[in-house]
Amino acid sequence: MSVKYGRFEWNHCPICGDVLISADDGQSMRPHCPPCERFYYSNPAPAACCFLTNDAGELLLVQRSIEPRKGLWTLPGGFVEMGETTDQAALRELEEETALRGEGTSLLGVSTISSKHGGVIVIGYKVERWEGELDAKTDAMDAAFFSFENRPEIAFEVHQNLLRIYDTSARGRA
Ligand SMILES: [Zn+2]
Repeated sequence: MSVKYGRFEWNHCPICGDVLISADDGQSMRPHCPPCERFYYSNPAPAACCFLTNDAGELLLVQRSIEPRKGLWTLPGGFVEMGETTDQAALRELEEETALRGEGTSLLGVSTISSKHGGVIVIGYKVERWEGELDAKTDAMDAAFFSFENRPEIAFEVHQNLLRIYDTSARGRA
């Protein structure tokens, strides 16, 4: 028998493989594995992205080479891996996607979106210094700097929200 939890279905414990039951964790009913004495929670996934400008104050964007929203533009970024901080994740993704090496970050803002897949929390960082030659890689087919007036369509609402924060705070260099 499957146990349904809103958008999610949890059937088996990923550690021992036993069938999960529904149990009260003190606040609400959650998927629970009795042999492991463990509750399972579903949370939005943390991600990070970069706001990085050139000398002209133009903002760096990357063009997606993979679905979803292939061909549209987005801020360089991605999901946070275990063992790294959110600002490390932002700079790692920056280098993976654009070959630029960033240094020094300051928090721009946070945006949260829920979806049928569970949702994402994106933390936006301004990158203070960077070096390297722009070269689109991995899941980016192109990377370029754009002025506010020439900014292309942005793939994700969660990034559009962060761009609004960016535009109303300090457009151009931090
Ligand atoms: Zn278990």
